[in-house]
Amino acid sequence: MAIFEEKCFGVQCDHCREVYMNEHSGFILWVDKNSAKEEADDSGWLGDGDKIYCPNCAEINENDEVVLKVKE
Ligand SMILES: [Zn+2]
Repeated sequence: MAIFEEKCFGVQCDHCREVYMNEHSGFILWVDKNSAKEEADDSGWLGDGDKIYCPNCAEINENDEVVLKVKE
């Protein structure tokens, strides 16, 4: 068996810089961007265009828009 190196992707909150970790697996890295985003999504992280926010920083308002809970 050979050991090889591969690029990994993680998800970091654009506001508080917290790094997303899957609570069940403990993983913080995925081999493709979409899986990373999907799992973060399932845990309540909110994507807004190119940005992504953790559940502590953002919520969905009544217009289905992602809004920051705290002001920058
Ligand atoms: Zn955050």
